[in-house]
Amino acid sequence: MATRDEILRELGLAPAWQRRAPDAGGAVAVVAAPAVRSIVTVEDPSARRTRIAALGWDALERDIKSCTACPLCRSRRRAVPGVGDREAEWLFVGGGPGAEEDVKGEPFVGQAGKLLDNMLAAIGMKRGERVYIANVVKCRPPNNRTPEPGEADACRPYLERQVALLAPKLIVALGKSAASLLLRTDASIASLRGRRHRYGETPLVVTYHPAYLLRSLPEKAKAWEDLLFARRVASSGPPPSSPVA
Ligand code: URA
Repeated sequence: MATRDEILRELGLAPAWQRRAPDAGGAVAVVAAPAVRSIVTVEDPSARRTRIAALGWDALERDIKSCTACPLCRSRRRAVPGVGDREAEWLFVGGGPGAEEDVKGEPFVGQAGKLLDNMLAAIGMKRGERVYIANVVKCRPPNNRTPEPGEADACRPYLERQVALLAPKLIVALGKSAASLLLRTDASIASLRGRRHRYGETPLVVTYHPAYLLRSLPEKAKAWEDLLFARRVASSGPPPSSPVA
């Protein structure tokens, strides 16, 4: 049976306060836990999509930071809108922020982020210049679990607006969870790599997640192949929208 704490947590009502271990003097310090946000679903989803689709960059970031459209808002510290050049031609998309990103409010700032920066450098790019980095979901899923489809759906208007504002030449999906959520497929990374996909009208390619590459060094060579392929896709322009007669 669920404990009282579990039930309160499920309802978004706990923990309101956390008791710390007694300090050296034996006193018990009581500290406020991060504010518990309730889910506010007053906005009709279709009205919300329309509203978000009209936001500029600054308003979009503010909206993301105060979003309460899905349960991830309860456990996040900071929402992570994205970072980079607002006129970037390349958009890199991960699944969702991890622990360090949740603290800093910036995507890919941990070890995986360092590797991503190195991957960018390998193709002559730099965080903040000609590239924008974001995630499918803007708030950290608890314990870094894969974002759920419902969470991705609630966050989709944000990524769609980012894509519309950027109008990138290319999206690079980083890892299985980003690829699955963006392409709505369960296919393996191995089967998705090396192919030109589309997110709406934007060409999309898939590569390994940098965190996976940190654990599987031999795959780094494949990620390098993917980046070369991505460069070819980006420079080949949009596909014809209808067959050429
Ligand atoms: N993993 C992701 O997919 N995104 C981040 O921002 C960090 C780690």
